[in-house]
Amino acid sequence: MTETGGHCALCGSQDRRPVQKQRLALLGRDEPCTIDFCVCGACGHIQQWPPVSPELMAHHYRSVATYEVFGEVESLRAPPPSRHAGRFLKLAADIGLTPGRAYEVGCASGAMLHQFRSRGWHVQGCDPAPSAISQAAKIFDIQADLGDEADTLPRQQNLDLILACHVLEHLYDPGAALGRFHAALKDGGHLLLEVPCATAPEQLPPGWFTFEHLHYYQPALLHSLLSGAGFEVIETRIDRKSEHYPVMAIAARKHENRPQDTSRQDPSAGLLLAQCYAARDKLLWTATNLRLACVQEPVFVYGAGIHTAQLLDRTGIGPKIIAIADRDSKKWGQSQAGKPVISPEELFAHASRAPVVISSYVSESQIIAALLEGGIAQQRLIALYAQLRAPLLAKSTH
Ligand SMILES: [Zn+2]
Repeated sequence: MTETGGHCALCGSQDRRPVQKQRLALLGRDEPCTIDFCVCGACGHIQQWPPVSPELMAHHYRSVATYEVFGEVESLRAPPPSRHAGRFLKLAADIGLTPGRAYEVGCASGAMLHQFRSRGWHVQGCDPAPSAISQAAKIFDIQADLGDEADTLPRQQNLDLILACHVLEHLYDPGAALGRFHAALKDGGHLLLEVPCATAPEQLPPGWFTFEHLHYYQPALLHSLLSGAGFEVIETRIDRKSEHYPVMAIAARKHENRPQDTSRQDPSAGLLLAQCYAARDKLLWTATNLRLACVQEPVFVYGAGIHTAQLLDRTGIGPKIIAIADRDSKKWGQSQAGKPVISPEELFAHASRAPVVISSYVSESQIIAALLEGGIAQQRLIALYAQLRAPLLAKSTH
């Protein structure tokens, strides 16, 4: 480690250019953690630098992150596929893959594997969350390996296909992981992956630089990373509309020989993108802060997670919070920034009629629906993003 905090995870350079700092109060932790989001001055890759410690990340996945599925078993088994699975199924069909042995890294509850199996694939997968593994068995009868890919992939060989949907942005050393993917595939085997795409800063939501994402891939840099790991990119699809931020899906084929990637990257695009986005993010949070400053009374917050940690960091709402409600039972009784986390039922039954700030970008509309259904009056709800989202949604329906 050097004074500047280590090396670029992609190219090894020590030329670190900070673009944003966050101080996040995490659930069940007394001290906030500080994260620097930086751009590599040599290759232009945007990343946490230095990254959140693996211990803290493990704590987060255990106690905060909600990757389990909620819903009735029968409706989960029934079609249609999720948007993610739908994109992978179409990509696999479009490049002419025929069913064989598929392995999904980070298979969560097995919904994607279930879809591939129904199209003739023999499926396996792994996930580090015990709850996900048991759900995959219970809901889809898929026996997945408990662990991350570094533990489980070395036991695999001659795979026809590896699926990695929103995995690569979470990994400390994506180059090493791609090396393991390469080793587990048969010659000519395929890799389908999807990650958030670092593009179009004007379309990126507030809080896009986030705790769980160590990497923010630009297409050219991901292509270069894949090529360096021995993959030939067959197809790249950037989808700006289907999710809350642009995503990039890539189909790649294993090369027998690993070519030496000698291309020199131009860092200026990454620097410009990260700086533009950091400026936009600052403006969006400033608007949110001004809006919340108009609320004089105490408030509840709905959502105990990273968005609330960012809300506490970027606005002055903290002292006004009575409690933070969340639907995830493993969070109840814990505290975030000294505020108790309560269940939705406690919120509904609470004597206070205080306003409820909905602290989520991605799930805002679902939370509004659940709160209305629970009996919270509409005029008590403070939605932070409804207006920001409206023009984008209107556009995407055409
Ligand atoms: Zn670099």
